[in-house]
Amino acid sequence: MSDPQPISNGNNNDGANGDDNRDGRPLAGQHALVTGGGRGIGAAIAETLAHAGAAVTIAGRDLGRAQAAAQALADSGYRTHAIAMDVTDEAAIERGFASAQAALGSIDILVNNAGAADSAPFTRLDRDHWDRMLAVNLTAVYSCCRAALPAMLERRRGRIVNIASTAGLRGYGYVAAYVAAKHGVIGLTRSLALETARAGVTVNAVCPGYTDTDMTRATIANIEAKTGRSAQEARAALVKDSPQRRLIEPDEVAAAVLWLCLPAARGVTGQAIAVAGGEVM
Ligand code: NDP
Repeated sequence: MSDPQPISNGNNNDGANGDDNRDGRPLAGQHALVTGGGRGIGAAIAETLAHAGAAVTIAGRDLGRAQAAAQALADSGYRTHAIAMDVTDEAAIERGFASAQAALGSIDILVNNAGAADSAPFTRLDRDHWDRMLAVNLTAVYSCCRAALPAMLERRRGRIVNIASTAGLRGYGYVAAYVAAKHGVIGLTRSLALETARAGVTVNAVCPGYTDTDMTRATIANIEAKTGRSAQEARAALVKDSPQRRLIEPDEVAAAVLWLCLPAARGVTGQAIAVAGGEVM
C-alpha cells in the first residue's frame, strides 16, 4: 500500500472554538476522520462535516478516490487530507491515524463508515465470507475506536459515530454475516458509550435503511441476475418494507451524523438512530 498522501488547501479553519456557531460553522476548529469517505454515504458525510466547519480526513482503500474526494472539497475552500487506509489492516490504521493527526491535528470526530455487504444463503455462507464481513463491518470499528479514543479521553472531548444499518436492528435474509456484524456494531456502540459517558465523549450509531449508493445498486443488480426480475422490480422489492417506499439519500444519513456531532447533541450517547423512512421503530 502506498503511503498516505496529504491534500491540503489554503483555507485554515483552525483556531475557532468548536462550540462557536456565530459564523454558521459549528464544527470549526475540529478534525473529523471519515472511513470509506471517498464515495457513497461516507462522501456525503465528509462533505457535510466540512460545510459545518470541520477539517476532514477522507480515508479509503482506494487512495486515488479518497484524494479526488478530498480535492473536490479543497477546491471549495475546505481543509482536507486524504489517506489510504484499509480498515481491516491494523498497520494501515496505525499509519493512517498518524498521517491524519500530523496533517490536521488531533481527531475530534471519528465516523466509522467503511463497510461491505456480501450476500449468500446461510447454507452457502462459508467461513471466508463470514470472516470478511466481520472484519470490515465490526472488527474495523473496534480497531478505529481503539486508535481514536486515547486522545479523545485525554482531551476530554470527542464524537464517535458508527454507520451501522437497519441490519443492526432487525434481520434480513441472505446477509446473515452482515446482519450479525451490524448488530455487533450497535452492541459495541452501547458499551463504549457507557465507558466514555463521563469523559466528554459520545458514541452513537446511525442506522440507514436501503440508501441510494453503489452498495444498493449492486444489490439491485444481484437481485436482477439471480431472479430475472427487472431493475425496477428489484428496487421495489428493496423498498417494500419502508413505509415511505423509497431509498434513503446519502445526504439524509449525513445530516443525522452532523447532528450527533453538534454541541447541542452532547447529551445523546449510546443511541442507534434509524434513518429508514419508518422501517424500524
Ligand atoms: P459503498 O459500497 O457505496 O461504499 C463503501 C465504502 O466503504 C467505500 O468508500 C469503500 O472504500 C469503503 N470500504 C469498503 N471496504 C473497505 C475496507 N476494507 N477498508 C476501507 N474502506 C473500505 O457503500 P455505502 O456508502 O452504501 O455504505 C457506507 C456504510 O453504510 C457501510 O458501512 C454500509 O454497511 C452502511 N449502510 C449502507 C446502506 C445502503 O443501503 N447503501 C444501508 C445501511 C447501512 P473504497 O472506495 O476505497 O472501496
